[in-house]
Amino acid sequence: MSDHDDHQDTQLVHAGEPRPRFGGAVTMPVFQSSTFEHHAEGGYDDVRYLRLSNSPNHDALHRKLATIEGGEAALVTASGMAAVSAALLATLGPGDHVLAQRTLYGGTHDLFTGMLARWGVAHDFIDAAEPEAWEAALRPTTRAIYVEALTNPLLEVADLPAVARFARAHGLVSLIDATFATPVLLRPIALGFDLVLHSATKYLNGHSDLVAGAIIGGAARVEEIRHTLNLLGGSLDPHACFLLHRGLKTLGVRVRRQCASALAVATALHEHPAVQRVHYPGLPSHPGHERAKALLHGGFGAMLSFDLRAEPGHEVEVVRRFVSRLRLPVDAPSLGGPETLVTRPAVTSHAGLDPEVRRGLGIGDGLVRMSVGLEDPADLVADLQQALG
Ligand SMILES: *Cc1c(COP(=O)(O)O)cnc(C)c1O
Repeated sequence: MSDHDDHQDTQLVHAGEPRPRFGGAVTMPVFQSSTFEHHAEGGYDDVRYLRLSNSPNHDALHRKLATIEGGEAALVTASGMAAVSAALLATLGPGDHVLAQRTLYGGTHDLFTGMLARWGVAHDFIDAAEPEAWEAALRPTTRAIYVEALTNPLLEVADLPAVARFARAHGLVSLIDATFATPVLLRPIALGFDLVLHSATKYLNGHSDLVAGAIIGGAARVEEIRHTLNLLGGSLDPHACFLLHRGLKTLGVRVRRQCASALAVATALHEHPAVQRVHYPGLPSHPGHERAKALLHGGFGAMLSFDLRAEPGHEVEVVRRFVSRLRLPVDAPSLGGPETLVTRPAVTSHAGLDPEVRRGLGIGDGLVRMSVGLEDPADLVADLQQALG
């Protein structure tokens, strides 16, 4: 038996832990040292320095992440955006072209349309649910295809196996940001993806107390990205490594509980007369329900969004009043922590879009996005009902 044969909950606790344990410590200690002694017989590859992401804390975390995702290698980064930008900068160069899903995380969208475009990387946005349309967007210079596991804020589910197959068939590197799905629900490498990215700020750490990212994939690709990250300087501090390592051990129990609570919350909202529509892939009414059922294991995620009923023109005010009456959920961006969070996409994450474009994407002014936390779901449902009442 090896770590690779264990179930994921066992891997989360034991995989990648140093053997023998440092000083017998049951928990991985923090190696808060910027540099490490270099032995006389060592070469450049033996240099250990924190910016190179090769402290004992990094090594252990990389082994654990690679094992739980079923990948050869992993790399942690100073933020989710550091993971996205390092992976894309290592994969693409001037003159290259990339296909990207239309509804991307805001920072990633800006990276494609702003910085990468300025550095000579072209892109086309695609509807990731419509594989028939992708081939027409290919160019001789197309190098990669980039998607997200569940989209923000409507939780759309792309045809992910088709993305991986399309990439194989056309010699493209396939990248997926699987932050919303977590390695508990989705194994992109088993589907054929080359690189899996996470904002570890969210579920992987799970405690709303650090910013980090992760990249998992084949050894050669991850090594190339590590060289890029070394130059960009986006390495994760050892204390943040320690916190992320600690958070990961409970990923399975947290995510399964959060998914069960999210289904309870989504069902209660779906039945409430003040709610016009609920976007949650666990509900049969969601357009991605059948695909989510086929792709996700053990739950449908803990992110959902819903439109409040309002007179035309009064949506923003109705949402503002609803959020101000909530006792438990906190009005804050981000997701994946113990606290249930709500955001109003029309006035926060998607405020920069032209209102017509925003509505065209299905993001109405009465939309509320929710990250379901670890509170008792009965308390959450009761609180939502009093705020809607
Ligand atoms: C938060 C997030 C990011 C960016 O992560 P940071 O840790 O904030 O840099 C990227 N992708 C998705 C899907 C996210 O939710």
